Amino acid sequence: MDDKEVITPRSKDYSQWYLDVVRAADMAEVAEVVKGCMVIKPHGYAIWEKIQRELDDRFKATGHHNAYFPLLIPESFMRKEADHVEGFAPEVAVVTHAGGKKLEEPYVIRPTSETIIGYFFAKWIESWRDLPLKVNQWANVMRWEMRTRLFLRTGEFLWQEGHTAHDNHEEAKEEVMRMLDVYADFAENVMAMPVIKGQKSEHEKFAGAVSTFCIEAMMQDGKALQAGTSHDLGQNFGKAFDVTFQNKEGKLDYVWQTSWGVSTRLIGGLIMTHSDDNGLVLPPKLAPIQAVIIPVCQKEADKERVMAAANALFSELKGAGVAVKLDDRDYLRPGAKYYEWERKGVCLRIELGPKDLDKNQVVIKGRIAEKKEFIPRENALNVVLNMLADMQKELLSRAKAYRDANIVSDIADYKGLSDLFAKENKFVYANWCGSPACEAKIQEENKATIRCIPLIGSEPTGPCVCCGGEGKHRVYIAKSY
Ligand SMILES: [Zn+2]
Repeated sequence: MDDKEVITPRSKDYSQWYLDVVRAADMAEVAEVVKGCMVIKPHGYAIWEKIQRELDDRFKATGHHNAYFPLLIPESFMRKEADHVEGFAPEVAVVTHAGGKKLEEPYVIRPTSETIIGYFFAKWIESWRDLPLKVNQWANVMRWEMRTRLFLRTGEFLWQEGHTAHDNHEEAKEEVMRMLDVYADFAENVMAMPVIKGQKSEHEKFAGAVSTFCIEAMMQDGKALQAGTSHDLGQNFGKAFDVTFQNKEGKLDYVWQTSWGVSTRLIGGLIMTHSDDNGLVLPPKLAPIQAVIIPVCQKEADKERVMAAANALFSELKGAGVAVKLDDRDYLRPGAKYYEWERKGVCLRIELGPKDLDKNQVVIKGRIAEKKEFIPRENALNVVLNMLADMQKELLSRAKAYRDANIVSDIADYKGLSDLFAKENKFVYANWCGSPACEAKIQEENKATIRCIPLIGSEPTGPCVCCGGEGKHRVYIAKSY
């Protein structure tokens, strides 16, 4: 085994395990010549394409259209919304020269596009008839990061950002929740990653938003991953960019806006929700290869009939919509192939050799199954489809059970909270008085943050876990990525 293939066990070093899985599954690597950036390799990008397709269908089904805005934003735009510039200034990269000359006004490389989209919305929107305006952009963004981690935090990353404008606040708020639901549905039913829907605290909300809603997932090490956000921007950007419309009464008003996004960090979430010490584990709905057929043939004399049978099975599965690969490389032994596809997260491996042909069977091994199954050849397609469907369900229920077992609901005071975070990572579900002082203290002393005020179950059940004052919300507190 070569060093590149060694995967550190999770119990030994979770961070190293994560990096080992990314490398062993050949998903991405650090672009060492470009600070903080990564190369997403074909096997990683194929997963992103599946994520994109699933989400894009859902965006279109909820009435959004894709558009594209410039990568470069005039620096002055960033200053028009005070909170926005303050939030993003430390991490923007600025272009000062182009075409061999110093620019009159520098451009920032977009860290997000509310400002430039606000500018164009102002040109496009005149009356209530132009509303709602609902666009989505698939793009790259850049946020200069000091401490980077493949997929989870990189200087440049890929994402989608939805931007909408409405003629009243109620409708904008409905949009914010609709898209949060789209994200939560996608996370649970496609990624098989259970999430908690909630609202961010004032301190954690998006720079320039009235309020931010999020989905939070628990990784296998007990840390939280913010997997998606949906912002109610109120009229903040409308006012900053003078995005006005004539309402039905003929009066001029500012539009109500929303924005919402998810990024390639979802791939990091997938890895840390499902994968194991043998490598990547992917839910079938996002697996670029759902099943691999491996002909097992020692004798040259058997080769022809084994390959004919493998090809026939390949066509049958492909015809039924299974993302199937036939691994016919004859310079690798079957064992090496099994090992490679296991690391890369292929959901099912199908072995086919002369003995199987004689018995009219195939051998199927599920990626998370304990042992191989011997299936009559004529049932192969049905069994494959059922195993994929079952695996999708099992990954979600397994992740849900793990999460629920790692939520601690009985921490009553600050000592209990500190003692817990000093030795382990859990989601602490506790009461909070709502004060920024307690929030800051929890963060500074425990490196844990208030992840969200959940949409369901935020009624206080006792005093603030930090100060003992009156509890205002019940919240989730955790360390996070
Ligand atoms: Zn408090």
